[in-house]
Amino acid sequence: MAQLHRQSLIAYGQPLCETVADCPAPRGTEVLVRVECCGVCHSDLHLQDGYFALGGDKRLDITKDRALPFTLGHEIAGVIEAAGEAAEGAVRGHRVAVYPWIGCGKCPACRAGEENLCSAHRHIGIAVDGGYATHVLVPHPRYLLDYSPLSPDFAGPLMCSGLTAFSALRHLGERAERGPVLLVGLGGVGMMGLSLARALFHQPPLVADIDADKRAAALAAGAAQAFDPADPQARRAVMAATGGVLAACDFVGSEKSLAFSTGVLGRGGKVVVTGLLGGNFSIAAAMIAIKAMTIEGTLTGTLAEARELIDLARSGKLATIPTHERPLAQAQAALDDLRTGRVVGRTVLSAADDA
Ligand SMILES: [Zn+2]
Ligand SMILES: [Zn+2]
Repeated sequence: MAQLHRQSLIAYGQPLCETVADCPAPRGTEVLVRVECCGVCHSDLHLQDGYFALGGDKRLDITKDRALPFTLGHEIAGVIEAAGEAAEGAVRGHRVAVYPWIGCGKCPACRAGEENLCSAHRHIGIAVDGGYATHVLVPHPRYLLDYSPLSPDFAGPLMCSGLTAFSALRHLGERAERGPVLLVGLGGVGMMGLSLARALFHQPPLVADIDADKRAAALAAGAAQAFDPADPQARRAVMAATGGVLAACDFVGSEKSLAFSTGVLGRGGKVVVTGLLGGNFSIAAAMIAIKAMTIEGTLTGTLAEARELIDLARSGKLATIPTHERPLAQAQAALDDLRTGRVVGRTVLSAADDA
């Protein structure tokens, strides 16, 4: 029996630790995937903390959702190593990206194809052990997506940051074609959003971030204009450039980012919020009606959207974004660097040297 090496969460708020166990044998429809790489995601920081900041002293406790030790990691690309007797179509040696947002299959959300919104979910790396490991167990082959000819370090992050950005842009609807979209926050999701917006929409997007290096990277990647939301003149500059934004994605989700992204909306405009940074956001209630404003949250994306996104990426229409690869053993250092906010582009962990 092969061994399963993991960088595990053994206590909330504490550094990850290596744990070793026997590799699980897949049963029924289960598939065992050997992890080639797993993206490091900002939400992993919240999971490690055990809470989301809700503003003031308020916290959303998320420690009840999983047993410790627990393996984080939900941006997984790997190779099918073994499959249960009922895992039809799972072929040993096939390279696959893992759709991690797996639901119960029975609740109204799941029945509507929105397993990502399931109330009793089994999301990989969130509720069940994930990809900061040499292997991961997937309950059914339908969650495995062929990503050739993409590289695994591109395909893995597509399942979270890519999918989150894709679903957010989709939720903008036809507003996204009435003028340039505005992307607020240029971390991993925001940069993916930029790449997707370039592929999906006629006009190149506007971007906003408080970090000058990230703005420069976005301009180099094809953004039409970049704004610094910390600049008191930024709102006026966006209004001058657009007459009011009709379609914005807020990839930050903080008091300041939401004040900015709702503040630059034109009448009938919409902000789709994916960010989870936290804090409290308040708005003059009358402005919601006066501006005919929509503020909508999205959480990752559906399996159908994941398939659509992978197809788009496989067609070659999506620019890759800067990706740094680090060995699995450096999982905690990668999380630490992400926490300081100084990472441009994506980080993926590669289990290759640990297997
Ligand atoms: Zn993620
Ligand atoms: Zn469900």
